[in-house]
Amino acid sequence: MKNPFICSVCGVPKVITSENIWLDNGTIVQRRDPLHRMVFLEVDNIKGLFEGIERIIGISLERIIMVAQSRYTSEYIKRFMPSGVRLFVNRNLHRLPGRRLAFILPSYLGRMMGYGAAKLLHSDYKNYMVMKVTDPWYLPLYLGNIRGVTDALVAKVGTGVYLKIGPEQYIVTTNTSEAEEGLKGRFVYREYHSKSGDLSLERCSGCGGPMELSRYRWDVKRGIIEERNSHQRMALLGPGEHEAIFDELQAELGEDITQTIIEAQQLFVSTELLTSWNAFDFATLQKQMAFRGMGNLRELVAEGDKVRLRVENPCLIAMLVGMTLGLYEIFYRKAGDARWEVAEDGDLKIEVSPK
Ligand SMILES: [Zn+2]
Repeated sequence: MKNPFICSVCGVPKVITSENIWLDNGTIVQRRDPLHRMVFLEVDNIKGLFEGIERIIGISLERIIMVAQSRYTSEYIKRFMPSGVRLFVNRNLHRLPGRRLAFILPSYLGRMMGYGAAKLLHSDYKNYMVMKVTDPWYLPLYLGNIRGVTDALVAKVGTGVYLKIGPEQYIVTTNTSEAEEGLKGRFVYREYHSKSGDLSLERCSGCGGPMELSRYRWDVKRGIIEERNSHQRMALLGPGEHEAIFDELQAELGEDITQTIIEAQQLFVSTELLTSWNAFDFATLQKQMAFRGMGNLRELVAEGDKVRLRVENPCLIAMLVGMTLGLYEIFYRKAGDARWEVAEDGDLKIEVSPK
């Protein structure tokens, strides 16, 4: 049966392409808040990155990631919902309108964006909540989202515990408590450079989103987005939340983790070649980078086995550098060394040469 919420041409939920705009300058922004950027990324990539960092530094990042994500989500919800609406939710949690805004709407959006699904099993709408979470691509981030929503709406964060009850199935119980302190880093809502561009992504005639999205299948019930052939799982994320997590990690661990992120990302890309990156040339890189909202590739110069890139409006810079090194390793069949800098106008310049 035809689903009126799904675009009949590209198969993408209409809420995705109506709430987010793929601009012609290599960025994806929220329609309601164009300063708020988004990225569309392979989630195994990010999960692999966190696990890679954990392996390199030798400690679990679960709590840091959960708290950093909750701060970001809380900030995001506060910007998204005016204080009057939040007060209404707070007073009406026991009734359907309040529940819709506090639980049903965030979990619906989460499913559309590829985060997995959640079902509320029980709650007194005051002190605790029990829910079943299925197919989260990375549970600490999902828990952070739940805590962030509760923090923004009822000014309390949950001390969440979870129990694995099956493959990709968890029972999550949150007991709301006063906000805990502890992490050293302060949340900073990042601002990005935004230069204009002249990319022309092919557009869907039905919804106006990029046609490239039709390569992905949306399982809107389970909250899973995957590439139709490779089954690489994707999600629509805020790069700012990951930058915030990296900042928190840095503050907490007291050392520069940029190089660690670059190495983990390089390792992931070089061992898990993504099917859409089938060449290391200007057109492929520019299109794939822009489609993911990571920036606008303006230059790619290859001289022998040296490569120079310039990217406008970059985000997740350490990941971009690591990704370039990973692709270099695959397509040049040798390890590379990267020198990179961010210019005053925000452009990222990367130079890769053989190690
Ligand atoms: Zn469409």
